[in-house]
Amino acid sequence: MSTAHQTWVTAPMTAMSRREVEAAAAELNDRIGGTVRSWEPMSRHTTFRIGGPADIFVQPLDCHDLAEAVRFAEVKGMPAKVIGNGSNLLVADEGIRGLVIRLAPQFSQIEWHEDGVTVGGGARLARLVKEAASAGLTGLESTVGIPGTLGGALATNAGTDTGSIGDLLAEATVLDQDGELRQWTASQFAHRYRYSSLADANAAVVSARLRLEPAPPEDIVAKIERLRGKRASRQPLRAWSAGSVFKNPRGVAAGKVLDRAGAKGLRVGEAQISRKHANFLVNRGNASAAQMRELIARAHALAVRRYGIDLELEIEIVGG
Ligand SMILES: Cc1cc2nc3c(=O)[nH]c(=O)nc-3n(C[C@H](O)[C@H](O)[C@H](O)COP(=O)(O)OP(=O)(O)OC[C@H]3O[C@@H](n4cnc5c(N)ncnc54)[C@H](O)[C@@H]3O)c2cc1C
Repeated sequence: MSTAHQTWVTAPMTAMSRREVEAAAAELNDRIGGTVRSWEPMSRHTTFRIGGPADIFVQPLDCHDLAEAVRFAEVKGMPAKVIGNGSNLLVADEGIRGLVIRLAPQFSQIEWHEDGVTVGGGARLARLVKEAASAGLTGLESTVGIPGTLGGALATNAGTDTGSIGDLLAEATVLDQDGELRQWTASQFAHRYRYSSLADANAAVVSARLRLEPAPPEDIVAKIERLRGKRASRQPLRAWSAGSVFKNPRGVAAGKVLDRAGAKGLRVGEAQISRKHANFLVNRGNASAAQMRELIARAHALAVRRYGIDLELEIEIVGG
């Protein structure tokens, strides 16, 4: 099975002792104004509600804190992973070694212009879509119902069959691995279906400017309601999930392939393939990452066996 590897900053690392982790967290805590915690359960920060502890969990207050955290990780030889709302992640039961840097809910500023918006990397798409309707600007409706942040959306080129976030991007401010701020043009992201070059470049989106078109607010609201209704009728939105687990292969929906292969309702422990949407794997309450991975493997094998289709992961498996 092909997998997506969208790690932001990576460095090989041998496991640190509890005392070493706590000492490193205390040192970083002295340097920055934001939150620093050791052994933070990642189940608190993923929409799957699954995942063991991050060695050091950081919520920077501003760019200075973010740059300090990135440089700290670099100097200590620790890997660092930036996350948004954790809505595209399956975190291993063993957790994540090194730093996890969460940009939400900080980095959420939104500034409206006549022809678009400048948005912080930690801003939630849901808020953006709602405010865009009030501002009379159209374009973001394609992201209705995607529970991520702007940074996560740009990293994964989130979207639907009506469009993707990359279509709207004008430029972005990113922080690179050395802790330096850089301006990126839209083309540098090399966006294509659920892909951006961000991971390979080891860069975090701090903010971005999106291009939008003026339109009557009532038309935008009507479109949002229509798309929201369509999503609610097809997807198990109340369940703990990470949205679609597999990318759509060319010309066919992965959900359809899995449905026809008889995957709906399949269970491994507390992990289950939704009866409503076969590409949504849900945590029924107490699923482990190991159970979810086993279920993913079984769904993948079903598609291969029945249709010869090698489904590619859309979600990202992190840690372990
Ligand atoms: C119910 C449900 C429905 C969904 N529907 C859709 C859908 O229709 N279309 C779709 O595309 N996705 C969908 N998703 C998946 C998910 O919401 C998107 O991929 C979303 O864009 C991820 O954003 P996030 O902030 O949660 O990112 P995370 O899951 O936290 O991270 C995802 C990736 O982005 C990187 N990243 C996060 N923030 C930044 C940043 N500031 N700078 C650089 N890299 C960063 C992370 O390192 C990671 O590699 C759905 C998920 C759920 C739970």
